[in-house]
Amino acid sequence: APAEDSAPLQFLVRRNLAAKSAAERETLLENPGFGSVFTDHMVNLCWSEKGGWHRPRVEPYGPISLDPAAAVLHYAQEVFEGLKAYRHADGGIYTFRPEQNARRFNRSARRLSMPELPEEIFLQALSELIAADGDWVPSGADQTLYLRPFMFAKEAFLGVRPAKKYDFYVIGSPAGAYFTGGVTPVKIWLSENYARAAQGGTGAAKTGGNYASSLLPQAEAAEQGCDQVVFLDSRGNVEELGGMNVVFVKKDGTLVTPDSGSILDGVTRNSLLQLAEDRGHRVERRAVPFTEWREGVASGDIVEVFACGTAAVVTPIGELKAEGFVDEQPSGSLAHSLREELTDIQYGRAADRHGWLTKL
Ligand code: PMP
Repeated sequence: APAEDSAPLQFLVRRNLAAKSAAERETLLENPGFGSVFTDHMVNLCWSEKGGWHRPRVEPYGPISLDPAAAVLHYAQEVFEGLKAYRHADGGIYTFRPEQNARRFNRSARRLSMPELPEEIFLQALSELIAADGDWVPSGADQTLYLRPFMFAKEAFLGVRPAKKYDFYVIGSPAGAYFTGGVTPVKIWLSENYARAAQGGTGAAKTGGNYASSLLPQAEAAEQGCDQVVFLDSRGNVEELGGMNVVFVKKDGTLVTPDSGSILDGVTRNSLLQLAEDRGHRVERRAVPFTEWREGVASGDIVEVFACGTAAVVTPIGELKAEGFVDEQPSGSLAHSLREELTDIQYGRAADRHGWLTKL
């Protein structure tokens, strides 16, 4: 069926005959860590100029065969998403604001000159994976099934132009509690030698190249004894961490977060800020000069700084380190309480008053 149809697609399902046994699966789900255990199946659709989105299928998880000239291997036409499936106490499996990820996926695709995937197909692809691999959604405290939709250029052609053939996949990876031993404040290294993105660049897109270019600064951060790196833009404004957004809490209760065309518009951040607004906090999305951060902490005008994203949810920032200084960051309770409120909604322990959950 053409992708424009709003009727659900008929996915061809090829079961994995070598699927893990229930016992093997349960063992893996006890301590899955992050990103190295995968479920038994994957979802795949193809796109071509002639046929649009076609060949929807669920197949055994396994290696992908690519032509060595596949465009993604040379010119990095690739975009991805990351979201989680949560098991509720009643056994039901839910995902959090997946339509936001579907829209961001398409914004990323546009920036990388790739075809868009209709939102309903993105959502159906998630459901098809859960239909096959629902047993892989763990039920332990703070556990989830991390869902990774991605698309890449597979046309075998070395000319530099948008490819004419793409593959879309969804894979699933059970994830344990991000912080074993409780949520601990992280140390952040200020990247002054490297930028993550530029004005007009691809910073707002979730594309592999942004992450590749963040690895060297991240290694520099590790050498400095830091957990994460924070990037500035060329004008000296705060942008974000390698994989999380940043929020500042002011003494008067205002939450301030960078607004920039070159950072990823995080679903976690938007949701936390909504919850804060519901509580009566003011929220400002604007350029945040790095000097405002340092001076705010020094004067006591900033009372808390935290990072947020799907993987770790909320992480207080405990220390900011740069060439020439180390600034202790003030610790407060707002990050923790917003984290509780958000995860209570995600795991079905609190009312979903904003309609953020989708049953898979
Ligand atoms: N910034 C970057 C660079 C990221 O990779 C992520 C993780 N997707 C985020 C911010 C947070 O986004 P989200 O809350 O949607 O996970």
